[in-house]
Formats: sequence, structure tokens, C-alpha cells
Amino acid sequence: MGGDRLDYLLPSEVYDTHVHVFDSQLGPYDPARAYTPEEAPLRSLQGFSAGISSTGLPANLVLVQPSPYGVDNRVLLAALQKLHKDGSRNCRAIAVFDPELISDAELGYMHELGVRGLRLNLQASGGEVNHDALINALEVAADRIKQMPGWKIQIYCPAQTWDVIYDTIINLPVEVIADHFGGLKGSSKLNTITDNKTNENTALEQLGFRSLLKLAEKSRIYIKLSGFYRASNLSETGYSDLAPIVRTLVKRVSDRLVWASDWPHTGEGKDRKPEDALNKTEPFRSIDNLLILKKLKEWVGNDEAWCKIMVSNPKALYA
Ligand SMILES: [Zn+2]
Repeated sequence: MGGDRLDYLLPSEVYDTHVHVFDSQLGPYDPARAYTPEEAPLRSLQGFSAGISSTGLPANLVLVQPSPYGVDNRVLLAALQKLHKDGSRNCRAIAVFDPELISDAELGYMHELGVRGLRLNLQASGGEVNHDALINALEVAADRIKQMPGWKIQIYCPAQTWDVIYDTIINLPVEVIADHFGGLKGSSKLNTITDNKTNENTALEQLGFRSLLKLAEKSRIYIKLSGFYRASNLSETGYSDLAPIVRTLVKRVSDRLVWASDWPHTGEGKDRKPEDALNKTEPFRSIDNLLILKKLKEWVGNDEAWCKIMVSNPKALYA
């Protein structure tokens, strides 16, 4: 099943909805960053993207402002400009800024370049999320960007957080993008027993899953299928414990799913030491993206859903 390489390579109109550029020639890092990544320039990103497509051409890309740049979007915007100059297709971006400090002119300029949302960065240092602060941040951010056409708020939070912010998101004037499976975890990352059946149920019954599904069913959120290695420990098997989660999502909310490679695959926040933040370079993970795509295609199970996730859903989301 899915053995033919061409079968799971990406279609020509695909959107890779979460990628990063780290390029010291385009701009400086935030002095208060939690880590310093390796370089990941735009041309490497384009090379990676071309390598997993069936046409040998890079995907439509959504650049996401990574935490080491803080609220300085210079590198993000410079990369967007380069993509436009290259004649690349629909290049979009999600920026990070203080909604209480940003001017209308800055928002307008970012929109023109392809920015379509604001990322609230909650977990760069792997710490706990303060719920009151998160609810307040969501409301302030939504109020500031609601007049921007098609703009969304993007968050990455532990799955159980959706139970707490459910009512807030129902009433928010903008839609939300849930990063990396909405924080759901495969059974290998949950504290469970070894019996397979029990494990499958545990993954589907984890806290927050029902709220996440309901929010997607009510068209309040999109869920990004990305960061498989953040949700599962089973790299050898292509993160097979995520299969029941993906199958459930596809069955219930296939119109609200998008895919992303999360290139260049930054490390996990919880291993970081403050004393290393500025002067030690943190390597990227080495990830078998073709194995991930092969498995994902198997779990998604039909071409109609695959095309929605890869092309039409992201096209609508980042219009
Ligand atoms: Zn990322």
C-alpha cells in the first residue's frame, strides 16, 4: 500500500503551511531568544520543497515567524519578497508582533506582502501555559487583527488547553490555526500500557480531543497535520501511533485540515539550557519526510481528502 513513490509525492498545487527560514544575512536574532538555530536559508527550503513534490517544483509556502527572531519580522518579510521576485506561487506568512504596538500601516504592509495572521508563541521555552494570560492574549490579538481580511491567529498548545479556551474561541471574531495536531499526542507520548487496543483508545480519549474536534466542526479552527515527531516517539515506524488520530480527524473534519513539513525541523524546547541560548548552535532534527508522507497518505485513505488537505483547504485558509 502506498509503495509507489509517485503516489505519495506532493501534487503541484500543494501548500506546505509551516516552514521557517533562518538566515543571518537577512537580519539579526532576538537577543532574548531561547535558542540559536543552524542556518536554514530560503534556497535550502526551496530545494527541500522541490525534493518532495511530484513535479520537482517547490510548493506554495507559508513561512512562519520562528521564536529566535522574536517580534522582528525582517527576515520573514525579506524571504517573502524574495519569493515574490522569484515568481513563486502563493507565498504567505504568519508573523509575530505585539498587537498593542503594531500600527495600521505596518499591518497593511504585511498584508500586501502575504502575511495572513499572527502567531502567539506560547511554548518556545517548553514551559507551562498560563490559561488566563492565553485567553487575554487571544482576545487582544483577535480584536486587533479582525479588520484584516482573512487573517487568523495561530497557536501551539497542549491538547488539554482546548477544553479551557473552547468558549473563548467560539466567540472570537477571527478563526484559529491549531499548530502541530493541536498538541494531540500519539500513545507513545502518553503515559500508557502496552496493549495496542488500549493505546489506540487512550490516544482518542485524551483530554482536549473532543473540544478540538468540536471547534473544527463549528469552523472555528483549522488543524495542522505537522510536527509528527513532536506528537510521537515512533520515528522508526513513521509515527504509527498517530494513525488513529489522523483517521478520526479525516473522518470528522476533513475540510478543516492542512498539512505542513515544519521544515527545517527545529528541536524540542524542553532540552534547552538558558546558558546555551546565545552562543551554542542547536542542530535541526534529521527527519524522514518521505516516510511521513507515505504513512500520512495511507491513513488519509482517499484522494478526495488528500487533495483537500494538501491543496483546497490551505488555499482557502491563506487566501
Ligand atoms: Zn515550526
